[in-house]
Amino acid sequence: MDFNLKEQISKLVALQAIDTQIYNLETEKNSKPEEIKKLDTAFEEKKQHLADLEKKLLDLQKQRKGKELDLGSKEEVIKKNQTQLYQLKTNKEYAAMLKEIAGTKADISVIEDGILGIMEQADAAKDEIAREKEVLKGEEGKLSMEKNKIQVRIKEIDDRLAQLRADRSRATSGIDAKIMGQYDRIMKGRDWLAIALVKNNACQGCFMNVPPQVINLIKMYDQLVVCEVCQRILYIDDNEPA
Ligand SMILES: [Zn+2]
Repeated sequence: MDFNLKEQISKLVALQAIDTQIYNLETEKNSKPEEIKKLDTAFEEKKQHLADLEKKLLDLQKQRKGKELDLGSKEEVIKKNQTQLYQLKTNKEYAAMLKEIAGTKADISVIEDGILGIMEQADAAKDEIAREKEVLKGEEGKLSMEKNKIQVRIKEIDDRLAQLRADRSRATSGIDAKIMGQYDRIMKGRDWLAIALVKNNACQGCFMNVPPQVINLIKMYDQLVVCEVCQRILYIDDNEPA
């Protein structure tokens, strides 16, 4: 070995601290598009609710128009029947016509009640639409503020990542190529944690027990020792008992 293993390990520990920050920031940054999409979707749903209300109002207006046409034609029928009334020859015919007119009048009254009901519903829908439009305006402002906040955070992350990548390239200098290769391999396979502290006789990567003979091996510093369970490189803090 043409290097000091203890020194190599302390370089790896420093590198791991940088890599953990890089990993956390990249994870946060990668979650941002989904966050923006969720905000947009929630807003679109609110817009859709308003569109549904507007369609409901339109339907009510159409229903009202239909009923008004119906009403007009029934009124025409009554007018015609009333003129015919005086041309009828027999009492029987006269009585029958009066009965018909009364029936049509009853129909008209039902239609009028229906129109009133529709007008009430339309008024309620109009009020709700006005309220929803106000709410939506507020939501639109909130949405653009939230999205802006996310963009600011992404910019912060990018700036910090640029710094950390510069720090990383400095931190890797002087690390033996073979050790570096092992570190990279473990990091990618083990959730971006390649080197784990032994504390209270446990690997802080997987929290499983580390036997005393393994701890002794670490303290000898003549080979890299890995955790028997998670295969991460193990190290001890000289200031704390392992
Ligand atoms: Zn472990």
